[in-house]
Amino acid sequence: MSFPVAGVTIPLPGELRLVSPLEGIVTVARTNRGILVDAPFRTAIAGTCSRCLLDIEIPIDARIEEEVLPSLDIASGLPVDRSLEPDAVRLTGHHELELEPLVRDAISLAEPIAPLCRPDCPGLCLVCGERLGPGHATHPDDDIDPRLAALRAFRVDDEAENG
Ligand SMILES: [Zn+2]
Ligand SMILES: [Zn+2]
Repeated sequence: MSFPVAGVTIPLPGELRLVSPLEGIVTVARTNRGILVDAPFRTAIAGTCSRCLLDIEIPIDARIEEEVLPSLDIASGLPVDRSLEPDAVRLTGHHELELEPLVRDAISLAEPIAPLCRPDCPGLCLVCGERLGPGHATHPDDDIDPRLAALRAFRVDDEAENG
């Protein structure tokens, strides 16, 4: 059984925030112990470029692949002993599948550690701390970081000795 998911937004924990609704296909298949969920999906989360600190949208391409076990024994209706598999994902007491926690886990796993606004992000200026790029004016020499000035002076001396 498959059903499409589109236009769905869910709350995420911590600082994570969806900026694009979930789009994907959820396929559910019965196994001899429970159900198998296979759900590739796409979304985007709000983030910050790790180089220039610009607010960005981070595309997320993730997939849920999980066997979900019942929390009640189908035959007896009694709660199953969870101590045998404490980490297993469980259906609710109404035999319902809760996708939200699975989606959250998949997004957390797919979230890049160091996202960039673009692959060649120029980063921040060492002198003024502003983002480098077309909008960034060059600095007159006297604004240059003393460490860079020392390096420049050294280079000039080096050339003079060799010349
Ligand atoms: Zn950037
Ligand atoms: Zn600058």
